Amino acid sequence: MSQLPTFLVEHGLDKENGMPVYNPGTGEVVARVRNYAASEVDAIVRKAEAARKDWAAQTAKTRSNHLRAWYNLMVQYREELALICTLESGKPLFEARGELDYAASFADWFSEEARRTYGETIPSFAAGKEIVVTKHPVGTCAAITPWNFPLTMVTRKAAPAIGVGCAMIMKPSEATPLSALALEYLAREAGIPADIFRILPSEDAKGMGEVFCTHPTIRKISFTGSTAIGKLLLTQAGSTVKRASMELGGNAPFIVFDDADMDAAVNGAMAAKFRNAGQACIGANRMLIQRKVHDEFVDRFTKRVCELKVGIGTDPDSQIGPLITEKSLQKVESLVDSALAQGATLACGGSRHNAGAQFFTPTVLTGVRQDMDIAQQEIFGPVASIMSFADEEEALSIANNTNYGLASYFYTRDVGRAARVFNALEYGMVALNEGLLGTEVAPFGGIKESGLGREGAHQGMDEYLELKYRLLGGLSA
Ligand code: NAP
Repeated sequence: MSQLPTFLVEHGLDKENGMPVYNPGTGEVVARVRNYAASEVDAIVRKAEAARKDWAAQTAKTRSNHLRAWYNLMVQYREELALICTLESGKPLFEARGELDYAASFADWFSEEARRTYGETIPSFAAGKEIVVTKHPVGTCAAITPWNFPLTMVTRKAAPAIGVGCAMIMKPSEATPLSALALEYLAREAGIPADIFRILPSEDAKGMGEVFCTHPTIRKISFTGSTAIGKLLLTQAGSTVKRASMELGGNAPFIVFDDADMDAAVNGAMAAKFRNAGQACIGANRMLIQRKVHDEFVDRFTKRVCELKVGIGTDPDSQIGPLITEKSLQKVESLVDSALAQGATLACGGSRHNAGAQFFTPTVLTGVRQDMDIAQQEIFGPVASIMSFADEEEALSIANNTNYGLASYFYTRDVGRAARVFNALEYGMVALNEGLLGTEVAPFGGIKESGLGREGAHQGMDEYLELKYRLLGGLSA
């Protein structure tokens, strides 16, 4: 408790009756936060709806200046925010700092983009008429965010919404409300009105989701989380025909062809697999290595994996933190056990780690097949599952054999192959010779059951804007 910079989150704490937030590395209670009930949402939405009209009436420059001030405060409190993120999510401090930089970049980016919600004029279909298309804020929005990137998931949704003149109310994961509350505190310091951006931690995710999706005043729901919950929310949101953005699960292939730069491929694999202890939607879930270089890749990659330091996030040497809950640990353990039972081979790791109750040893499995559970489900842990393939056709067939379509990676130095594979991979994001692809300037999102819509980039702003087609008639002299 003493480690927590409480001045950043004071307004959201309820030290006696609030819901506990745990440090997944130690099991200790970090803080207690106010637990909102679903029945409280209606009054909050009414206030948001009243406030957002004034907010939308401000100039784009005014809203942009507030977002810029928010960004500056995030930079100013970088260390405090990173510590909060580490304490509740478990991720090592160096990763939490990196996440804060990424989170802040969305406030920076959308402070600029918010001034460019340009409309369009369209050559008319008839004399004496003009066509103008204008963009308008969607209205009051609601969002639900996960625990794995507790800072970024907030800013990636809130910054474009606030920037274009919407109000945003948000339920962060029960596991990580403190990062969101700290960002809310800084938003208020930056002059963003309290009713325009509200963080509502709650133990009642189901109840909050239902109200968010069915409340007639809320015009948009934005969700990041599992595909299963995304489908549920889409169904609920259908009752009021809400706009919806869904950033859902992934099953990323990481393909290494035999002409690849092996140093780059191994480095990329380490980043794409072990960031955030493997708890990332864009994490490499299936590593596909061409037969000729399979053994070399496995040897070099496994050596690097064995060197990873496991420990609590506040330990400066830690590279792999805990899993978020005991349930997550059990899921990873059972995927590894079932893969081994189904014929996979253990190259390293394979069991819990003695750093604490929720740690898993970085693991490499080879001989994984498409029909194994570990190849079909999101692993969401520090476990690399490796398959081999004969040729390009087989690699693409395995890579696309999934209902997910979020991120994918491939390594080759052959230009023709690069062009073919870019075209053939059925994913919203494809990286060639790179293991990290998240940036505020490019559209992040998936196809198939990985989601709807895009976040970041200029496209991320359109998610919070409606188009109005204006036909101006009677203009003939
Ligand atoms: P999750 O169980 O779907 O939870 C995500 C959020 O939904 C949390 O705030 C959770 O609240 C809430 N929630 C749970 N049940 C709900 C319900 N019935 N109605 C409404 N909300 C509900 O996912 P997770 O396990 O926390 O997060 C990991 C998943 O997120 C993975 O599938 C990952 O791939 C995906 N993800 C996707 C992206 C992307 O950009 N595509 C980014 C990050 C993560 P509580 O936590 O309080 O229960």
